[in-house]
Amino acid sequence: MKQRLLFLGPPGAGKGTQAALLCDRHGLRHLSTGDLLRAEVSAGSELGKEAESVMNRGELVSDSLVLAIVKAQLGALNGQGWLLDGFPRNVAQAEALDPLLQELNQPIEAVVLLELDDAVLIERLLSRGRDDDNEAVIRNRLVVYADKTEPLIEHYRQRGLLQSVEANGNIEAITERIEGVLA
Ligand code: ADP
Repeated sequence: MKQRLLFLGPPGAGKGTQAALLCDRHGLRHLSTGDLLRAEVSAGSELGKEAESVMNRGELVSDSLVLAIVKAQLGALNGQGWLLDGFPRNVAQAEALDPLLQELNQPIEAVVLLELDDAVLIERLLSRGRDDDNEAVIRNRLVVYADKTEPLIEHYRQRGLLQSVEANGNIEAITERIEGVLA
């Protein structure tokens, strides 16, 4: 299976769940910028303090901060495969990632786009109950996704890397669909 992956898709599409399962089954490192940022918030670090209020509004944390986190993580991997989940989230981040991966000599092998209708997304996020999962913030995150992150679909399609997967149905069936496009 491909070893250097990127997940794209709206909040609530199941990126985190599928990424964790896939990484477990295939020995990849799961790099979720959302999880890494939440760990900083829980630890009460300076970085976490800076990120917390931005996250709770459903806005994006600064590119430089997220990029520093990703760079440190990728640099420490020693050849293990990886799956980036929640990064890049805008065109500037994608344009910063390309030269970083070139420098590491580790190009992306596939980009998986998880697709799901807004109505289902909102329902799923409301039942999750995280700090940034109330209805107003969820709507804002969907707007931010449409404005900032969706343009990346074209960015990666043009590079011939994009694979779309329907993200409805049961968890196991979706994992199999993803494995199917990455074989
Ligand atoms: P979800 O997949 O449900 O949108 P995440 O756990 O990926 O949630 O991210 C939660 C929040 O963390 C985002 O709304 C944003 O504030 C922040 N965040 C995560 N990744 C990034 C990123 N690459 N750039 C900027 N902010 C980010």
